Amino acid sequence: MAKMLWNTPEDLRKLLCELVSWESRTFTPGEREFPIKLQEKIKKLSYFKNNPHQISLHDVDFGRKLLTALYKHPKAVKTVVLISHFDTVQTEEYGELEPFAFHPEELTLKLHDRKHTLPESARIDLESGDYLFGRGTMDMKMGLATHMTLIEQASIEEWPINLLLLTVPDEEVNSAGMRIAIPELLHLQEEHDLEYSLFLNSEPSFTQHPGDETHYIYTGTMGKIMPAALFFGKETHVGEPLSGMTANYIASFMTQQMEWNAMFREHDLGETSPLPVSLHQKDLKLEYSTQTPYRASALYNVFLMKRNADEIFDLFEEAALDAASKCNISYQEICRRENISGVGEVRVIRYEELLKHANHKFGEATVEKLIEAFTDNTLLDDREKSLGIADELMIQCPELAPAMVILFAPPYYPAVNSSEDSGIADAVKVIKATAASHHANLGHIHYFNGICDLSYLRYTDSGGELATYKENTPVWGTTYSIPFEEMKQLQAPVLNVGPFGKDPHQRTERLHRKSAFVHTPSILKELLKSMMGKQSGTKADIEMRSVE
Ligand SMILES: [Zn+2]
Repeated sequence: MAKMLWNTPEDLRKLLCELVSWESRTFTPGEREFPIKLQEKIKKLSYFKNNPHQISLHDVDFGRKLLTALYKHPKAVKTVVLISHFDTVQTEEYGELEPFAFHPEELTLKLHDRKHTLPESARIDLESGDYLFGRGTMDMKMGLATHMTLIEQASIEEWPINLLLLTVPDEEVNSAGMRIAIPELLHLQEEHDLEYSLFLNSEPSFTQHPGDETHYIYTGTMGKIMPAALFFGKETHVGEPLSGMTANYIASFMTQQMEWNAMFREHDLGETSPLPVSLHQKDLKLEYSTQTPYRASALYNVFLMKRNADEIFDLFEEAALDAASKCNISYQEICRRENISGVGEVRVIRYEELLKHANHKFGEATVEKLIEAFTDNTLLDDREKSLGIADELMIQCPELAPAMVILFAPPYYPAVNSSEDSGIADAVKVIKATAASHHANLGHIHYFNGICDLSYLRYTDSGGELATYKENTPVWGTTYSIPFEEMKQLQAPVLNVGPFGKDPHQRTERLHRKSAFVHTPSILKELLKSMMGKQSGTKADIEMRSVE
């Protein structure tokens, strides 16, 4: 039997450090190069030397690619998709240690000389020697390394199951990689006659509260959606404040209404979604002048469990109507006090209504050109494009002001949950038993709270969602889309089992060595073995049964 490259804890540590050293922050050249290097690395396995067509790169966007590598047992149809992302967040927060952010062993050593700069919990973990620090160690190159060891073992020991490793870019920003991967999963399924039995992600375990040492697994993931608003008041000179209405005045009511609004809180399976907060609120005036800011925008973060985009948009509209009503009452009082007639009442307009109004006024061809000026502008991101389009249409239709235009800005991550699936219940039992054999403290959570690519699997449209989302997302179909139809065809259960770590997206990001190099690989191996043991796993079994 061939010698394994990535099998022992020491091999895994080296593999992880190598993957981390290939910096791949989202939208850097490193992110473009990573999958190419990775392909070379995986091709070292003799299985892929013999089956070179089963590993391939697929274009995503901006020169970025995703990688798939399929280990296929000649008799198995049952297939587990091993999902990871290889991009990481930025590293500015490392300060003088930034050059070491991608070199975990050196960084961990250097931190010993700078212990006083660390928060207490990170300092204690550093002194314990149990953790490896570094960008991407926990989130989530260790998950990818674990998938690599599984595919290596499966191919050498000829496990009777198929494993499809899928690793994507852009998870940390827009999940463009995963959205492109969905149709690719359908192609591969057909091409290789696969039956997807499980979508297994290995995002790290997140702590639930400071000091939490429990290693969690997740049988679903929370969704996330971004309702946004464009506030359009009426301009004036600072010397005549009563002749206009600033957009900031209107926006302040909406942000008050949205932040911590309990109407958006959901409960399911004993868990609760975090409350909404604003992600930005700013006026759109580019330079200082004594003209008052009459256009502003805001983005709000909303988490989802059972609700879909349609339901959220209804709630968002309700919140906007409430905010507009409070704003109008307050403004009327000022008008009475100052004995003026005012600029009118703030109204709430859905983006789809604004678009209809503009199309009617100017004709669709003209409006399309106005929109294209934003969608074609590569200097803007999808959020800026979305708000810019609403802003432009309002500038062309000032008769609608003062107003709040409500819309969706990308990205959208639907919620997904497999807790009630019987296969998943069995998987959780195997995982718990294996963790117990390692004396690891393991907890089960129904909704991963870190946002992940599993959102694009096992999709069910519970009615009305698609139309509402598409019609109120100004960049839908141009620079942003979600393959909803293809997602519906991928109905296998989802599961997230990754290593334990702490402080993702912080300079104290760190990975628990034993969890990463011993426990998690062992847990996943036992899980896959338990799946192989089940009937219906191979073509021979199916033939046998059909004969009976
Ligand atoms: Zn992640």
